[in-house]
Amino acid sequence: MTSFIPNDKISEIKNSADLVDVVSEVVLLKKTGKNYLGLCPFHSEKTPSFTVSPEKQIFYCFGCGAGGTVFSFLMKQEGISFPDAARSLARKYGIEIPITHLSSEQKRLITERENLLSVNKEAMTFFCQTLLKSSEGKSAKAYLLSRRLTEKTIDDFHIGYAPLGWEHLVNHFSKKKIPASLVEKTGLILLKRSRGGYYDRFRNRVVFPIFNLNQQVIGFGGRVLDDALPKYLNSPETPVFNKSRSLYGLNRAKKRCRESDTVFIVEGYFDLLALHQHGIENTVATLGTGLTKEHIRLLKGFVSKFYLVYDSDDSGIKAAQRVIEIFRAEEVDARIVVLPAGHDPDSYLFNSGSEAFMDVVSKALGIIPFLIESAVKKHGLSVEGKIRIISDLKGPLALINDRIARSLYIQKISERIGVDEAAVLEKVRETSSRKTTISNQIYRFDKTGGKKKAPKEMGSKLERKIIEMMLQFPDAIPEVTRRNLLKHFEDEMLKSIGEMIVGYSGPFNQFVSDTITSIDNEEKKRTINSLAIGGDLWEKEGCNKLMNQFESIKHRRENTLLLKIKAAEMRDDKEELLALLKEKQNQARKSG
Ligand SMILES: [Zn+2]
Repeated sequence: MTSFIPNDKISEIKNSADLVDVVSEVVLLKKTGKNYLGLCPFHSEKTPSFTVSPEKQIFYCFGCGAGGTVFSFLMKQEGISFPDAARSLARKYGIEIPITHLSSEQKRLITERENLLSVNKEAMTFFCQTLLKSSEGKSAKAYLLSRRLTEKTIDDFHIGYAPLGWEHLVNHFSKKKIPASLVEKTGLILLKRSRGGYYDRFRNRVVFPIFNLNQQVIGFGGRVLDDALPKYLNSPETPVFNKSRSLYGLNRAKKRCRESDTVFIVEGYFDLLALHQHGIENTVATLGTGLTKEHIRLLKGFVSKFYLVYDSDDSGIKAAQRVIEIFRAEEVDARIVVLPAGHDPDSYLFNSGSEAFMDVVSKALGIIPFLIESAVKKHGLSVEGKIRIISDLKGPLALINDRIARSLYIQKISERIGVDEAAVLEKVRETSSRKTTISNQIYRFDKTGGKKKAPKEMGSKLERKIIEMMLQFPDAIPEVTRRNLLKHFEDEMLKSIGEMIVGYSGPFNQFVSDTITSIDNEEKKRTINSLAIGGDLWEKEGCNKLMNQFESIKHRRENTLLLKIKAAEMRDDKEELLALLKEKQNQARKSG
């Protein structure tokens, strides 16, 4: 574990680092007795069960069983290795780690992350200098000013300019004697396909550096100065840049987020800058990935109130439909802010000011009420309109796995539009029952012929089905990754196949042949082979249904376990309770 770093250094770091300090950067902790308590950053919860002991310098979550030292916390939270966690702490506490006695390979491994970060930092300096000091930078600066950004905002956010031409950054790093192969790993430069050599990714664009919570530059976003396409360009994912876990501006927003317990989430760089410049500093922006579960978990460490800001009813509706289940699963309430027609947050703030903006915010509705009102506005309350309203809403409602939540919403709709609750429910059921066609197919192939399956067995069938889907309909792979389905797999072999599929970098149609010739495990080979050939015709809709079903079964299994634990507690059956808690921890470990 402690590879590459001398043990005495590890102890020095351990002795200097304060776990409460480190955890507090991402989790809001409250003192309770001798411990601190907060919402767990590793699983969804509404009541805090994440406990930090300042005395023992350990943490433990009574909800998911995550626990450990300051090192394990950083590793889990940032998804980094032990040496990286140790070095990050060493930096924070001013401890020097000697690397002289390391082999060159060890040095490479240990320092790659830091190297990437320092390349990014150097590039940021280059972009900033070019904006301020070069003649070409002038037009970029003029552009930023025309977008009504102030010098202070440009400076605060370290906005820069990547000049026109193919090799400015390439040459800059070459002059600094920094290997191009290293710079390439940040995505700032790319290898030329034909003639060898490298070229700059960002050309003739204003450049926004993206920071992590430690104020390190992890990536960049660039915007053209005119109407050229693509309008926006981001750094690719790298070992230091994970878009689904990063938010633009969070480094500057976090303090105000904590103070106000509120965050505004926007979609673009200029929207974010406009809000910050108008004093609404508790604002972050997504990086072209849409909002993810990881984003929400990250933000939960700072706030409990979420506002999603959109520029039109339509984009608000689309986004609301997309995030409805993520927010519900994370047990967080979100409100949808839609600006008056023709405005985005940027234009609205500059035209109408922050007071007008906050006025719109004060009228923002929760996700479901927003969808209901939007549908009413769009279709009206005639008989025809009501039918369309239900038809618009049944999809999003069917996505809600929690029955109680769903029935409460159905009640709301029926009250709002004056249609009998049972009728609305029936429509929603039609939609959700279509979700189960896939499971019917699974039953059909089931040799035992038994209709009722234990959830566990059912789970494993679904796992096979998902692998089959990935093999036969590779378009679904990104969604499997996005929903993090493989993490929940019980069957280790199926899971490892799934991971092989996700990690495969060649042309996908060669995956099966490649893999079955290269692996030794006969059973695995057979499984891949048979699932790749199996019988279903896959299309997008069916894939989504399958994935929804898998998620809901997993969810149900967790709930059953919780009930059993409660019952064992009531009976005071210690043996049973211990066994159940262990099982729960195993599950939690799986869902990480
Ligand atoms: Zn937890």
